Amino acid sequence: MKDLEQETNQKDLTFFVNGLKTCEKCDRLVRCRKQVTSGYGNLKSKIMFIGQCPGISGCNITGIPFTKDRSGKYFQQLLKKFGFHFDEVYTTNIVKCCPNDGRKNLNPTDEEINNCINYLLKEIKIINPKMIITVGSVARNNLIGKLDNTILNYHVWHPAYILRQKNREEEYFDQWRRVQRIFYKLKSDDDKKKMSLTRFMK
Ligand code: SF4
Repeated sequence: MKDLEQETNQKDLTFFVNGLKTCEKCDRLVRCRKQVTSGYGNLKSKIMFIGQCPGISGCNITGIPFTKDRSGKYFQQLLKKFGFHFDEVYTTNIVKCCPNDGRKNLNPTDEEINNCINYLLKEIKIINPKMIITVGSVARNNLIGKLDNTILNYHVWHPAYILRQKNREEEYFDQWRRVQRIFYKLKSDDDKKKMSLTRFMK
């Protein structure tokens, strides 16, 4: 059953990624991106982290969110520190192409977000997480009112912000501790449900 579930997710995701690869909806991004990116990780993950867009020297090059650049490395350290494994969670971005055209803070425009958001909503349907963590205000602000209310939704600041504001790191760790606490509670409730179902079926 689990393998079948994984296989179905993989097929849907492959179909989804193939559609993304040729997307040319945003004129400026088509000219400056290295590649179109999608998410990475465990297709059955209960938790999904959603950032803003691929970083110039990170995801834009590797195709994998939160990798290679300073904020990606810091994000991965945080995952580890709070008991998550990068390959076991699912990470993605709200905008799939890097806005590497010299703009400030790599902020996608409203038009680019509107062009891309349906890809993300489709990706969420395929992964079907129980908990979504928006990473940074661009992801948080643009998902308000768009998520199914059965999905728990929490927020952490973007790691790039904390790299510039190290004095706020303790507050940041508190945000992560909250995510960790809620996720492990969710996981433990789920494990209990599975155990009682197994007993019932014996
Ligand atoms: S950002 Fe999204 S909508 Fe815009 S070109 Fe890239 S994939 Fe297409």
